[in-house]
Amino acid sequence: MRTFIKGGVHPEENKYAHHAPIETFPLPKQAGLYVTQHLGASSVIAVSKGDFVKTGQLLARGEAFISANLHSPFTGTVAKIEPVPDIAGYKKMAIVIDVEEDQWLEEIDTSAEIKREITLSRQEIIEKIKEKGIVGLGGACFPTHVKLMIPEGKKVDYCIINAAECEPYISVDNRIMIERTEEFLIGACILRTALGVPTVDIGIEHNKPEAIAKVKEVAAGFSGINVHILRTKYPQGAEKQLIKAITTREVPVGKLPVDVGCVVDNVATALSVYEAVQKNKPLMVSYLTYSGKSVNQPKNYKVRLGTPVSQIIEANGGLAADTEKLISGGPMMGKTIVNLNACITKGFTSLLQMNAKDTKRLEPSNCIRCGKCVDACPMGLEPYFLAPLVEYSRWEDAKSSFIISCIECGSCQFICPSSRPLLDYIRLGKSKVGEMMRTQK
Ligand code: SF4
Ligand code: SF4
Repeated sequence: MRTFIKGGVHPEENKYAHHAPIETFPLPKQAGLYVTQHLGASSVIAVSKGDFVKTGQLLARGEAFISANLHSPFTGTVAKIEPVPDIAGYKKMAIVIDVEEDQWLEEIDTSAEIKREITLSRQEIIEKIKEKGIVGLGGACFPTHVKLMIPEGKKVDYCIINAAECEPYISVDNRIMIERTEEFLIGACILRTALGVPTVDIGIEHNKPEAIAKVKEVAAGFSGINVHILRTKYPQGAEKQLIKAITTREVPVGKLPVDVGCVVDNVATALSVYEAVQKNKPLMVSYLTYSGKSVNQPKNYKVRLGTPVSQIIEANGGLAADTEKLISGGPMMGKTIVNLNACITKGFTSLLQMNAKDTKRLEPSNCIRCGKCVDACPMGLEPYFLAPLVEYSRWEDAKSSFIISCIECGSCQFICPSSRPLLDYIRLGKSKVGEMMRTQK
């Protein structure tokens, strides 16, 4: 069984929602769509207050090279366009819609029929993915069409699907692979076609036996799909680690996967690509896991973008009594939710209720030079050394020690017996060194 070689840790998996089928979350009465839900330049609002919009209609246009369109997941009236606090409490421009019963745009195929034949050309596929606002749904939300536009002089050999889902608790990609197998695989083949490569390589961690069996069974009816079973280890789902595990290629510091001939997309992205290209459906939903140690019934949901976080919690009987912290994304790399009235966005992969025991930060003590953080770092860094460089603002030294290549996986902080806040320091250092490098340029 393959895996990446350098570093990695084994946090408790806690995949309580592994067997929970994906449920469709009901429509809210009012929804808030943040205008920019992707990595890149802001989108330009294409509606006005008072407009009536149908499900699938364009709300904001991504006009810059790296940007993305946003479509209305609802039918209704634009009640207001104003800043709305996000999960971190930062106000972001949003289009607020009073939701009515769905009236889908006619051009969208809402039937259950699965369309297998891919008729569009490479360029048409990329255009369609751009038009439908597809972004990477592993969390980064980088516009997918940009990833598929290979710069001149570069050549892609591998189209890789990241099905590792290595963060604890999150199980929704696992369910997509089990429940929407054929559509997911057609999406993977569309990505392969867009990249002009003959095969697609899917990497699944071995803690998902049901998904592995189902994907292998259905993939046997396709040509050119390779399924790789990967030994479970965090952060297997990080792009550079997945590329290493599947191809043995190493992405050098400061380089991108495309520089070593690889493009990586995740499971939910492949499914959204299927819906965009074969069904003309824009990206209007998020697939997420609702879970936590004290959550009575952990679930997987398909939720329309713009649905308030609070409604998901209310629909499940409120927060568990011992909830100390809410997290969006996984416990290793996710973000803390401080505003429950925030709305679901593209790439919102989980809503986790963490208890006091699991979130409590122990008092940091002195580094005992045990080297565990070095052994755990998948990027070959020396976290025990980087953290004090940041603490004492030694930015040039931090730069020459490759702080910028940290992927913020948190493995070092997780493993440290002295509870040193290594990731906190390194994140701060990365942003300072990044700023310094931009100024120097
Ligand atoms: S957070 Fe950065 S420094 Fe720490 S283990 Fe991950 S890559 Fe290495
Ligand atoms: S794991 Fe913690 S205690 Fe051990 S060397 Fe790294 S920083 Fe020091």
